[in-house]
Amino acid sequence: MCHCKFCQRATGGAFLVEPIFEAANFQVTKGTPKIYDHTSTGSGLQVFIHFCDKCGTKIFLTFERFVDVVGVYGGTFDDPNWFDLAPEKSKHIFLGVAQRGTVIPPHINTFIEHASLQDGTPITPTVFDTPQVIEKR
Ligand SMILES: [Zn+2]
Repeated sequence: MCHCKFCQRATGGAFLVEPIFEAANFQVTKGTPKIYDHTSTGSGLQVFIHFCDKCGTKIFLTFERFVDVVGVYGGTFDDPNWFDLAPEKSKHIFLGVAQRGTVIPPHINTFIEHASLQDGTPITPTVFDTPQVIEKR
C-alpha cells in the first residue's frame, strides 16, 4: 500500500493498493495500453504509468528503478480481493505523507518513505501493535 502524493493523485484516494508481480510473470494479453512517463520526485527516475486510452483507467506501473517488477493498480482486477494482503507479504510505504484519518493496521511493516534506500539498502520497518490513525498534520 503506497501513501505517496503521486499515488494519492493517481487514485484520487488515500493510497494505492498495489500488488507487485515479477515482470517475468506478468503480461498484457489484450490491447496495448498507452504509457505516461513520470519523473519520480524522490529518485529522479522514470515511472511508467500504463493506462487505457479508451476509458482512462490506470492499469499498471513499471519502473526505471525496479525493472524486475510490475505494480498493478489493485482496484482494476475483476476481483480486487483475489490477491493475498497478509501482513507478512505486505507493507505500507510513505506514511510520512499519508492522509489524516487513514487507519494503518497492526502487525504489518510500515515505512515513512520507501522500504529501501536508492542503492537498495533495506530500511528497518516500524511495526505497530495496535491500529494507528494518521493524525492531522
Ligand atoms: Zn506511491
